[in-house]
Amino acid sequence: MIQDIAPHKYHLEYSLKEPGDRDIILVYKRNMVLIREGDELQLPYKKELEQALKLTEEAAYVFLFSIDETGFYLLESGFEPDPLPGYVFLSPMFLRTSRPLMLSYAAATGYHLSTWYRNNVYCGRCGHKLIHDPKERMQRCPDCNNVVYPRINPSVIIGVRDRIKDRLLVTQYNPNHISDPNQPNARREQARRPGNHYALVAGYIEIGESGEMCVEREVFEEVGLKVKNIRYYASQPWAFSSSFLVGYICDLDGDDTLHIQEDELSRAVWKTREEMEDRSADYSLTSAIMEAFRKGEI
Ligand SMILES: [Zn+2]
Repeated sequence: MIQDIAPHKYHLEYSLKEPGDRDIILVYKRNMVLIREGDELQLPYKKELEQALKLTEEAAYVFLFSIDETGFYLLESGFEPDPLPGYVFLSPMFLRTSRPLMLSYAAATGYHLSTWYRNNVYCGRCGHKLIHDPKERMQRCPDCNNVVYPRINPSVIIGVRDRIKDRLLVTQYNPNHISDPNQPNARREQARRPGNHYALVAGYIEIGESGEMCVEREVFEEVGLKVKNIRYYASQPWAFSSSFLVGYICDLDGDDTLHIQEDELSRAVWKTREEMEDRSADYSLTSAIMEAFRKGEI
């Protein structure tokens, strides 16, 4: 999965510091990430940045994290919007399959952080401009002392199995179902992509719910099924929707007739192991669950 970058190690200890020449600068414009054009994913080092973009005097950096000895910084402001030749802004969804994995993970994680910084410029309580806290990853209001920590949306991804007929339930999202038009909606992009057609039942955990309660509710809402034997499978940070995904496996309880919630899903079908597509190139938890079923591991 996208976070499985060993032997590289992710370090998130926070500090206010400036980038060196061999640190990598992450640049995001609206919902897109700046990359160097080429077959493999390449991100600009600080010393290369002026070949990638025209910087202005206001260029300001925020330290995000390190991987091994390399720092990753966000270019928060102070650049012209059009990249120079050889560089391009792309939707970050391609990071689901780009290589090397370590840079895909870094660019995705930076995307989550940049989204949070972009959405938290002003205090939601009093409207004053927020400042970066010097000690931890937090935005602080100098006027009313409101504090804003990074936002992570907990969600569930659900592998529903029919043990009697040895099938897994897969879904296709309705491309018109847009929960947050300011984000590159993974469901919408999945629905429009020619390959990787299928997803799993999934949804955000609501206030007052456990993961297991959310599994029962989402499966019933999206496809009208009852489930049992709900158990944890794996988890994953999923930057594209600012989420933390918790994967569950569960079993169909009773009737296998699907009643699809049409505003969210366009299709849901039961698939046998032989009918599953090969999803091994995709770094998502959804694909990890599908692959585990295809290979007979669950
Ligand atoms: Zn305030």
